[in-house]
Amino acid sequence: MTKKQALRRWRKACEKWVSRLGLSDYARTYEILVEQPPDHQNSTTHGSWVAKCETNTRYKWLKAAALLEYAVEIDDAGLDETACHEIVHAVLDPIDTVTCEVIDALPKDAQQGFEAYRAAALERTTTHIEHVLRLLCKN
Ligand SMILES: [Zn+2]
Repeated sequence: MTKKQALRRWRKACEKWVSRLGLSDYARTYEILVEQPPDHQNSTTHGSWVAKCETNTRYKWLKAAALLEYAVEIDDAGLDETACHEIVHAVLDPIDTVTCEVIDALPKDAQQGFEAYRAAALERTTTHIEHVLRLLCKN
């Protein structure tokens, strides 16, 4: 599978969930990355990842990226699961943005504990919603 074919497959998997989750009015960018770029401050991921979604609810855009090695090796069901998960992150962005703003307003020494809690809670909630959606949207 070429990088171009992997991108086409990733885009199709994500677009399915963009449509089902009511985000079709967002500007969407899909990427296949050869390697993981360094994380940035507002990332929902920490450490290693196979896919990620950056989004901005106010300006209605999302950018979903997957690593090439993952995108060419994962089967269709696995790619669907990952795409659903990343698009759910876009749905949860407003509450996550507020949470980040509240944490940023805390004293510096209190921020780190809440940031770890936020990241874990976000992943747990995103994964839970992803599982329910995929169960409800079988076929
Ligand atoms: Zn996640």
